[in-house]
Amino acid sequence: MALRRRQPAPPRPRTDRSRFAGNAEPESMDRLWTPWRFTYVSRAEPQSPCIFCDKAAAASDAESFVVYRGRHSFVLLNIFPYNNGHMMIAPYEHAATLGETSRDALQEIIELTRLAEKHLLAIYKPLGINIGMNIGECAGAGVAGHIHMHVLPRWPGDAGFMTTVSETRVIPEDLRVSWEKLRAAFQGS
Ligand SMILES: [Zn+2]
Repeated sequence: MALRRRQPAPPRPRTDRSRFAGNAEPESMDRLWTPWRFTYVSRAEPQSPCIFCDKAAAASDAESFVVYRGRHSFVLLNIFPYNNGHMMIAPYEHAATLGETSRDALQEIIELTRLAEKHLLAIYKPLGINIGMNIGECAGAGVAGHIHMHVLPRWPGDAGFMTTVSETRVIPEDLRVSWEKLRAAFQGS
């Protein structure tokens, strides 16, 4: 009996990457270690070219998932979170680099990052936290023109789980619940 040659598998349909626009072919393993590479605040029609400026100007914090507003910078939820509680901290001013950002905003961003760490530890009890910025598109910035600090809680196994299910992300908590918890924590801090 002649062995049947296996037909090559058809090409996998591409998933909708439109919200990852600007990424150079993010692969699952790659994304695991640089989760902020594929995180976007929103894919809704922006009123301005910058999503962070839109969020800064939004009338409703609840609708825009703004967790806290400081004097020079603000905290918001990533609406495509890698894990529950994934927050971003950005200046109100549209600045692409640390050098373009005012000293006041930079100082407040670090203070708010410290508060975000505190509240994540208290509420979500992660065993690790990624904190970082990507400056520029080739460094993985989703929104390259407006700097933002990612604060991302981590647990052992979240990456391992991802490797087994590849492109599936399981976010058990509703964004609204995350927003309410973190909002309350920031109001009390
Ligand atoms: Zn902006």
